[in-house]
Amino acid sequence: MGKLEVVLTESEIQKKIDELADRINRDYAGKELLVVGILRGAFIFMADLVRKLEVPVVVDFVAVSSYGDATESSGIVRIIKDMDESVAGRHVLLVEDIIDTGLTLKYLYDYLKARGPASLRVCTLLDKPDRRQVDFQSDYNGFTIPDYFVVGFGLDYKQLYRNLPAVYALPPGGEEETCLQGQGRRNL
Ligand code: 5GP
Repeated sequence: MGKLEVVLTESEIQKKIDELADRINRDYAGKELLVVGILRGAFIFMADLVRKLEVPVVVDFVAVSSYGDATESSGIVRIIKDMDESVAGRHVLLVEDIIDTGLTLKYLYDYLKARGPASLRVCTLLDKPDRRQVDFQSDYNGFTIPDYFVVGFGLDYKQLYRNLPAVYALPPGGEEETCLQGQGRRNL
């Protein structure tokens, strides 16, 4: 049976979220922020991040089609649930768990930009630059990681593992039979 390997511990993640929140608090001082999470993966990261924000915050969510049950992107982005808030004239921060090929964020960024926000920036917990298919950079990124398929802290494999408190790598080919017991560490 394969073991999930820790890539980022709970305390490493929390320290990084503190740093990201400090930067965002400084950059948006005196402004109201509309924080838009991309479901489902961003929900835990966003919940921790917004609790560290000291500016007035309104939250909203969008849901997009994901990889289905595969670990590879289909390259097709579809909005399944649109935002409830209006974007026009607002300072918008789009929050995502991970930027991989860049297709999802590029699509959503262009989509929101066309609705006339006062400003639009992107905050991601993880970045896998080796996998990029379109030119896209996050404004606030937590960690740059190698091309591992990671789970935990909101990220899933077949909708499982989102509740795990840290970020883990799935062992190659071991997706079906993983366990947390005796987990090792995989370095960045
Ligand atoms: P992109 O459009 O940048 O290729 O992919 C963004 C989405 O793909 C993320 O929101 C996430 O749902 C999924 N994704 C990309 N890489 C990983 C990964 O390593 N693990 C998991 N669980 N999802 C990933």
